[in-house]
Amino acid sequence: FDDIAHPVCVGLDMAGAGAVIPLASGWPDDFFEHDGQITKRPIRALTLSALAPRPGEHLWDIGAGSGSVSVEWLACHTALSATAIEADPARAARIRANADRLGADRMRVVEGAAPQALHDLDPPQAVFIGGGLSGALLADLWARLAPGTRIVANAVTLESEALLARWQADHGGSLLRIELAEAQPLGRRRGWRAAYPVVQWSGVR
Ligand code: SAH
Repeated sequence: FDDIAHPVCVGLDMAGAGAVIPLASGWPDDFFEHDGQITKRPIRALTLSALAPRPGEHLWDIGAGSGSVSVEWLACHTALSATAIEADPARAARIRANADRLGADRMRVVEGAAPQALHDLDPPQAVFIGGGLSGALLADLWARLAPGTRIVANAVTLESEALLARWQADHGGSLLRIELAEAQPLGRRRGWRAAYPVVQWSGVR
């Protein structure tokens, strides 16, 4: 996204001067450098909506992948900050690059595995779990986070879905199952290509 400017970040109105990053969450996936491990655009839009950023807040993006969720979090308002936690070194470097290209100096990248890597971080008002979901991680967060902290977790596997279903029964919050399909060429016609369903738990500590 070298040619792309974000009006909020650079203080410019670029309309008519090339690509402009949209003001709504859910940017095209190719705005980000990624290796395929990226929360896809419509799911990302729903995730940002569930995270519900408010000015002044700090996000933990656990299993941040390309950093797309934290970058879009930062773009919602200049008074937002984020810490991206990512276990894979190459992806951690990519998160830094994606944040820098947007001019976002409000992003901290921590290379390491949650929950161990969460020690000593500034406390968040919102937490997104996009990777590394486990019972141990949820229990650790529940013990560590201040009451009122919002948590959103996305699950794709049956195992992590089962974990979230149990967690909701015990701790409340809401579960959303997102099933999307996109029209794709099918021979000379078109057909719906279904994406893996995503189960999203949103709760408040
Ligand atoms: N939301 C991301 C995609 C996340 S993919 C995006 O939009 O780009 C899940 C990521 O979680 C992977 O990059 C994986 O390396 C990371 N991950 C898995 N377990 C982890 C853990 N315990 N701590 C930190 N990162 C983890």
